[in-house]
Amino acid sequence: MSEKHTCEAPSYRPGLYHSIPCGRSAKVERDGSWYCGTHDPVKRKEREDRRQAKWDADVNASRLERAWNSAAMDLCRGLTTETMLKLGTGWVARKL
Ligand SMILES: [Zn+2]
Repeated sequence: MSEKHTCEAPSYRPGLYHSIPCGRSAKVERDGSWYCGTHDPVKRKEREDRRQAKWDADVNASRLERAWNSAAMDLCRGLTTETMLKLGTGWVARKL
């Protein structure tokens, strides 16, 4: 017996204040409910995890950038303007 299932995920449509079932043909069953490819909770979780991982990487990169900049600032604080100008062709000039 092959029963046709439709996606049970609540879906919000413009102009509606309540959700209606998605209704697309379901591909997977999770905990007794059926979902289409878009609303499959496992796939959604994977997508969210990927997005979260990318976000974390971005945050780490900018944190590193700030730490790097602040270290450069500390380094330059002890230098005379003349020394800084001599370093001017290096990364310090590009960073500050
Ligand atoms: Zn769906």
